[in-house]
Amino acid sequence: MRFRTKQVHAGVDPDPTTGAILPPIHQSTTFVQPSVDDYLASGYSYSRSANPTVSAWERKITALEGGADAAAFASGMAAINAVFMAFLNAGDHAIVSDVAYGGTYRLATQVYARFGVDFTFANTADPAAVASAVTDRTSLILTETPANPTLKYTDLTAISEIARDSGVPHAVDNTFLTPYYQHVFDLGVDLSVHSTTKYLDGHNATVGGSVVSRTDILHEQVAFVRNAAGSIMSPQVAWLTLQGVKTLAERMDRQSENALLIARFLEEHPKVDTVCYPGLESFPQHDLAKRQATGFGAMLWFDVHGGLPAGKRFMDSVGLWTLAENLGSVESLVTHPVTMTHAAVSPDERARVGITDGLVRLSVGLEDAEDLIEDLAQALDNV
Ligand SMILES: *Cc1c(COP(=O)(O)O)cnc(C)c1O
Repeated sequence: MRFRTKQVHAGVDPDPTTGAILPPIHQSTTFVQPSVDDYLASGYSYSRSANPTVSAWERKITALEGGADAAAFASGMAAINAVFMAFLNAGDHAIVSDVAYGGTYRLATQVYARFGVDFTFANTADPAAVASAVTDRTSLILTETPANPTLKYTDLTAISEIARDSGVPHAVDNTFLTPYYQHVFDLGVDLSVHSTTKYLDGHNATVGGSVVSRTDILHEQVAFVRNAAGSIMSPQVAWLTLQGVKTLAERMDRQSENALLIARFLEEHPKVDTVCYPGLESFPQHDLAKRQATGFGAMLWFDVHGGLPAGKRFMDSVGLWTLAENLGSVESLVTHPVTMTHAAVSPDERARVGITDGLVRLSVGLEDAEDLIEDLAQALDNV
């Protein structure tokens, strides 16, 4: 099956007892066992370990990514935490992209550092920098591409080779492009991590996460810590995500088209200093973006002329655009990373990786591009 067919049909069958076309929300803690000897005959015992509605979502995301199996989590951070828990021991070392989701950076520096794990935040856009960061204690490489919020790309094939040569798993945070645009297992990656909160749900309705594994052995390690730590996705969230994902390709294509139109508008605007969108020829890694993925996504950022005060005036002046955290939804959102998503990252570290005080991040939604551009134009007039 091709992607658009899979996004509708993979992983779900009509309910065998009622014929319901949508999978039921199995809102049940426990599952009755037929006998002591037949314990787990249905595959289900207790909803912290597995739940049939959650399993349907796991089959769906496994089919979309083309991996061996998947584990669904209560949030994207719970998914990243499970990857850390599964592959890092006290005394180990991990390499993480220097530009990454702020919560990933916080989890590494403020939680795992307490447990005796060392991190190198490497410029994963430079494979040589990653290769030279590997030590005999390195046991995980986690990259994020395109990275939140600067949109820096990592060459996944190059980093996967380094990981394979070093005998460590390479996990990628595939939240921004999703399996619709970025087929990470074709590029040698071992684990694909998602915040399903973003494009996969796409409707601002849920917080969730998933880890898709290339092999069953990797999946067993991730699923073991999920059960041990108790971080599974709820059946309600799985059900809503199953509905949202059915239009993933259509949403992402249209939202990306809108993003390109908006990027071109901003590029011409006298009050805008820098515009960063992977689909623009001016994007420094435009060739890698074209080669590595089948679309550029619907995230972009720009610097308003006049720095932080101008940026704040702009964000307070938008009307149709919503000032909010989150991204990937059908609603267009504007975020100020320095005060919102990346507030946990120190000013020095932000400056080092290129998150400027005036950086405005746009998550372009599904509205009419002309309305979105008119609203940006009036907000820029107010700056
Ligand atoms: C949002 C996000 C996360 C964290 O996901 P939650 O669902 O908010 O816990 C991780 N990585 C990226 C790239 C994100 O955008």
